[in-house]
Amino acid sequence: MAYFKHICLVEAPQAIITPFPRYVTDCIGILYLAAAVKNIADSLVIPDNYYNDRLFESFRILLKKRRCDLVAISSMTGGFSNAKRLAEIAKSNGSFVVLGGFHPTALPDEVLKLECVDLVVVGEGEATFRELVQKGPSREVKGLAWKEDGRIVHTGRRPLIEEIDSIAFPLRSLRPLRYGETGSEYSIDTIYTSRGCPWSCSFCANNRMHQHWRGRSPENVVEEIALLHDPKKKKLLKIWDANFLTNINRVEKICDLLIERGLTNFKIMTETRVKDIVRAERILGKLRTIGLQTVGLGIESPNPRTLELMNKSNAMGDVSRAITLMGRHAIDTEGYFVVGHHSETLEETMQYPAFAKKLGIPLALFMVITPYPGTKIYEEYLRDENITTFDWDLYNNFSPVIKTEHMDPASLVRMMAYCNVAFFDYRSILKKDNERGMLVSFLYGLFQIVFLMRVNKSLGEKEIRDAVFDAYLRYLGTNPVIDCIVSDTSRKIQRVSVVRIQHSPLRAIDFVIEQKGDRRTLAMVPRFDVKPSSGPIIRLDELVAGVFSVSMDTLMHLLCRVELFSNNPGRLADQLIPLLADRAVRTMGRKLVSLYVRGLLAKGLMVSE
Ligand code: SF4
Repeated sequence: MAYFKHICLVEAPQAIITPFPRYVTDCIGILYLAAAVKNIADSLVIPDNYYNDRLFESFRILLKKRRCDLVAISSMTGGFSNAKRLAEIAKSNGSFVVLGGFHPTALPDEVLKLECVDLVVVGEGEATFRELVQKGPSREVKGLAWKEDGRIVHTGRRPLIEEIDSIAFPLRSLRPLRYGETGSEYSIDTIYTSRGCPWSCSFCANNRMHQHWRGRSPENVVEEIALLHDPKKKKLLKIWDANFLTNINRVEKICDLLIERGLTNFKIMTETRVKDIVRAERILGKLRTIGLQTVGLGIESPNPRTLELMNKSNAMGDVSRAITLMGRHAIDTEGYFVVGHHSETLEETMQYPAFAKKLGIPLALFMVITPYPGTKIYEEYLRDENITTFDWDLYNNFSPVIKTEHMDPASLVRMMAYCNVAFFDYRSILKKDNERGMLVSFLYGLFQIVFLMRVNKSLGEKEIRDAVFDAYLRYLGTNPVIDCIVSDTSRKIQRVSVVRIQHSPLRAIDFVIEQKGDRRTLAMVPRFDVKPSSGPIIRLDELVAGVFSVSMDTLMHLLCRVELFSNNPGRLADQLIPLLADRAVRTMGRKLVSLYVRGLLAKGLMVSE
């Protein structure tokens, strides 16, 4: 008979969600734990309202209604304040509280200082958690830490699960309602086909948790994918391995089996190393056939010295080659860059967006280096007293928590804004034949930038407005040449088109398109006067306020629905009706339309208040 019988599992949500559907959690980590104990526990439960602030309330109600002798909370660093809140609720309801995941694994003694935490599971959880449920907190169970007589007992590291095919598939049927889908229906799902990573980048905590690379057998992977496959609903499947392409022959066999069994109704995205794409050249066609659509590449930096310090051995030739190969197979590339390495200057950081543009990638994410506990750089930044805050809510890759030799957190915020503003595709504006089209493109681009900056909870509306405007001025200072040849000369714009981005009454930038013959140019003209604009005006204060008024939950709901719809366009009615029935989504839509209309109406006005 098991020591713990009634178990509640909960994954602490990130304090601030990054606004991309792929970051919406499907709590796969705790589903692995659920599967590990399902035949020894009397009951297993996950609280409702998983993806919004009502989680805490539903968790409290659940524990009042249903006795859970064990509550297990999984936490990344960015979700740790939420984990603490959940642990306090669980403790006040008399449960034994266990924490696990990346953050407790990196800092078990720190986590155990919390009164509300009874025990920490260190490292990979499945085998340890099962033994804990069977035997209770015991020195016989490897991988545990707890408090005893004012000291902390560590039972020692448990050997890794080498036979990873023996790990039970995650118990997806337990998943709560998420944006209209439940259990195994989720249209954005995650699978891990391997654990660990053969590399050891200085900013990554993967090694601390999973250590060396272990791949599941192709047969085992395909058996799990078969359970997720739905011929009538194309899902976004995130193959969320640290490096999916580590063993090319294994991946090829997975592709062959999926193709053979017709399990290809997926849109797949994954992340990998640049070099692995080059090594995988011969199987890229098969990967496309099984649905691979997007690959995130950790390019990190254009600066070889920084790459060396990060222990990242990307060769520049490999980066271009990988992007060319994926383009050849119609696979999209997303480039991930990390600014703020301690040795880089402001001038070096300003090279990032130009480098990313030159590579020809459609999407680049400019993150800031974040010293997560458990990484090598955590030790380095801690030692050099360069960590500026231990507010874990800010540990999300988009909020600077460090200072460097050359930049403080405020300069890093400005650099991140600069990278996004400078990476924006201004040539797409040149394709617009009128000011309305230009206005929509600018609004879309600005919304994305401001939503990303909002991930940094320490920034208010004014700081974001200042950083974005400063970024435009900086970009303008680089004298960019933005022009194109219009092949269809009948598409001549009638006159000079202008869209103004207004920071405040005496600070604005006019974006001016002119056409001479078949050549169109976009010029950026700074304005420090009150001259009326002849075109639409985007007021940054209104735009930023509009973004702040939208809850991240509403945005994620909308993005997830759009993702489902874009993968299944024939299901328009199924998607739109529940979406339009949501009041928060309707309110958000009204705000966007109002900003557009106000931009048009402002035409010809001086913004003087
Ligand atoms: S960043 Fe990627 S390649 Fe580097 S250690 Fe982490 S998982 Fe491995």
